[in-house]
Amino acid sequence: MAKKAIITGINGQDGSYLAELLLDKGYKVYGIIRRSSIESTDKTRNIEHIIDKVHLSTCSLENSLAVYKLFASIQPDECYHLAATSFVSYSLEDDLSIMMNNFTATHNILLSVIEACPKCRVYFAGSSEIFGDVNVSPQNEKTSYNPRSVYGISKLSSHQLIKNYRKQYGIYACTGFTYNHESPRRGCAFVTRKITSAAASIALERASYIDLGNIDAARDWGYAPEYVRAMQLMLNAEIPKDYVIATGKLHTVRELLETAFNVVGLDYRNHIRIKKEFIRPAEEVALVGDSTEIYKDLGWKARAKFEEIIQEMVENDLRILRMEQNKA
Ligand code: GDP
Repeated sequence: MAKKAIITGINGQDGSYLAELLLDKGYKVYGIIRRSSIESTDKTRNIEHIIDKVHLSTCSLENSLAVYKLFASIQPDECYHLAATSFVSYSLEDDLSIMMNNFTATHNILLSVIEACPKCRVYFAGSSEIFGDVNVSPQNEKTSYNPRSVYGISKLSSHQLIKNYRKQYGIYACTGFTYNHESPRRGCAFVTRKITSAAASIALERASYIDLGNIDAARDWGYAPEYVRAMQLMLNAEIPKDYVIATGKLHTVRELLETAFNVVGLDYRNHIRIKKEFIRPAEEVALVGDSTEIYKDLGWKARAKFEEIIQEMVENDLRILRMEQNKA
């Protein structure tokens, strides 16, 4: 019998790649999506090509009864909980709603699993933001948690719930501490996509400059389609364990600029403006992950090269712009 998997946030970057992977593996895929998203082609763009192959349900993850009913009726074998509110908060009320939404959603999913389908395995999308302000580099599964944002705190509290319920109720639930991972489906607010789309626009003479913050900031940037493979492996292992999912390599925003602008044969130095509004507080120690453990246990390793990821993203942005040009 085909395995059944629920993906929350199926329309996001990771959700859409994971849905493709699971469909390829013969799973029946059930996606949970917000009611407001289903009516917007913008929000379902990433799954347009597989929309007839997946079963979509609109459900608010904050509504415990609705989540319970969904799990009880589907009886999934696996659940990948990827959905989260992740916008930058500007007020204390925003902070509270990020905390409440993210924690409540995780709680409702775990509660539904325990009550309605205790054999269902749960993957929780943790984040390197759980480590936050670190003093060791690279970070691994033993590094202490020190989130520096409410988003990080909300991810940490959900992770603690995963650990707690795993022990208390014996469910198969685990957290992947994913570091930044990119692809042509990355949102435009992230610096990678902001730069690749700007390089494409500038090359096609649609823009002249890109405004950025600290270009000496560094990140451990991986490739999203590889990271969703790690998630699937984690739910098909012998025991539930939490893992760091990262490349172990740091690159600066400056290198990102160089790489992206090289693809279109331009010198980024002629096209950037540093703007105060994009500068964030300095990070003492950069977040870079050590994925030795998942390689040892499950054979997963990040393989895509930074340059190849960025090149694919720039080429995709060029293609989108040319298509728009042809339509106009
Ligand atoms: P995240 O901060 O890890 O969630 O990922 P981002 O892609 O938003 O940012 C990655 C790094 O790029 C951070 O260290 C930012 O400070 C730096 N950065 C520099 N300029 C910009 C910018 O204009 N936008 C964003 N989003 N990040 C910038």
